[in-house]
Amino acid sequence: MIRVVQGDITRLAVDAIVNAANETLLGGGGVDGAIHRAAGPELKAYTRTLGGCRPGDAKISPGFRLPARFVIHTVGPVWHGGDQGEAEVLRSCYRRSFEVALENGVRTIAFPAISTGVYGYPKEAATRIAVSVMRAFEPRFDEIIACCFSADDAERYRRLLAE
Ligand code: ADP
Repeated sequence: MIRVVQGDITRLAVDAIVNAANETLLGGGGVDGAIHRAAGPELKAYTRTLGGCRPGDAKISPGFRLPARFVIHTVGPVWHGGDQGEAEVLRSCYRRSFEVALENGVRTIAFPAISTGVYGYPKEAATRIAVSVMRAFEPRFDEIIACCFSADDAERYRRLLAE
């Protein structure tokens, strides 16, 4: 089942939430900053040991003070106009996050809209990629949540999921 939830991903009591991180995995702005604040300083102490993460890849950590058991950190592409492989990297973020989740027994997982904040990926195109990879992995999870901060973003996911 794929469900759209509007709200703060740090509040979700799922097996894993996905973080739209940067390559250092040491925290940043947007959803990354919110996750690090809610998880507590233990998260940064842990991610420091992970050696960073390449765009399109994903690494896992405990959730520490979050209601979620794990955080899966993935690094989305920065939008440079679309001819720099951005779509393939974004698709890989969703795919690798699901693969790492499966390796760790995750049955319920929530994603933010990766790369659509400060990384500037056009929202309609990013949502199409998110939805298509979610569909591919849907049978292997109990619940996949598209967690959207804004009502507009939630509406976009609902529309594309209904197609
Ligand atoms: P990126 O650098 O990958 O673009 P951002 O954090 O800037 O990441 O934005 C990614 C998406 O996460 C945006 O749609 C933004 O509105 C959303 N977002 C920001 N904070 C939260 C939060 N606490 N929970 C869920 N989504 C969030």
